[in-house]
Amino acid sequence: MCGKNVRSVQVSKPKGPLEIVDRDIPEPGARHVRIKVQACGVCHSDSFTREGLFPGIQYPRVPGHEIAGIIDVVGKDVSEWKPGQRVAVGWHGGNCFHCDSCRRGDFVTCTYLKVPGITYDGGYADYVIVPTEAVASIPAELSATEAAPLMCAGITTYNALRNSGAREGDTVAIIGVGGLGHLGIQFASKMGFKTIAIGRGKDKEDLVKKLGAVHYIDSKSENSVEELVKLGGAKIILGTVPSGKAMGEVLGGLAVNGKLIMIGVSDEPLAVPPTLFILGRRSVVGWPAGTSMDSQDTLSFSVLSGVRSINEVFPLERAPEAYERMMSGKARFRAVLTTGH
Ligand SMILES: [Zn+2]
Ligand SMILES: [Zn+2]
Repeated sequence: MCGKNVRSVQVSKPKGPLEIVDRDIPEPGARHVRIKVQACGVCHSDSFTREGLFPGIQYPRVPGHEIAGIIDVVGKDVSEWKPGQRVAVGWHGGNCFHCDSCRRGDFVTCTYLKVPGITYDGGYADYVIVPTEAVASIPAELSATEAAPLMCAGITTYNALRNSGAREGDTVAIIGVGGLGHLGIQFASKMGFKTIAIGRGKDKEDLVKKLGAVHYIDSKSENSVEELVKLGGAKIILGTVPSGKAMGEVLGGLAVNGKLIMIGVSDEPLAVPPTLFILGRRSVVGWPAGTSMDSQDTLSFSVLSGVRSINEVFPLERAPEAYERMMSGKARFRAVLTTGH
């Protein structure tokens, strides 16, 4: 296998183009596995790598942290994974096991968290090498293309909702009907929440109802806060849009003890009126994806409940086009690269 050339799509410098290059096939370390990539989702956070927005990235770097494929080689000290197993890797690309968070078993907040496509080369490639703790098993019922987008967009919405404290029948509002939002609506509905979708434009109403929302609020023509208050207020608002401003605008729609959970990545400050929070005991939190085991739970729950990402599929060579579709917000709803393996 040594010396065999394989394709990678790399960024050579911040704001540089996504360029397809041939590289030597990488060899796994003792506690690593090599995965033959079949599919990799294109996530908004890939812009950290493409645009140079994450401190400490070493270039050239191959983006991609929604990886699905087949293990083809395991390192010499790996006994828990075998060649031929179908596996997936998400934002949790490895942890140190020694920092305070790891010592508490809270691996996803590891001080030295590794992220595929940021800390090491990710899934826009024919092959990827990952440490064993980053690996999740893919159920037989899911194809690689179905599994990939569940590894960041899926797990983040699923894990944020299942840890939100909301109970069956509670009102959960999802802001945004995009890559994250269209999955969040499905998960919230399948978890038994009274699910309200908030988007821009009347044209999304039919789709969100098909995905499981019982109400749709068009924030272009309706006041989201007034509509949420009419519906009794939301126990949870899941903010999936990459905009602090858009998330801040709906805070008044939180019920007593309600909570805004932010998962759409944005540098925009959130304007928070203290009175609203004090008088109604409301709160605002963020939620970071989850571990490889949380990913595996996401895949299992998706099989159980029928949740699927709606994808636009591109061959690996068309990664630049897929990335632009995602960044422009035009992708319906998640862009996924496939290698043909
Ligand atoms: Zn750690
Ligand atoms: Zn992501």
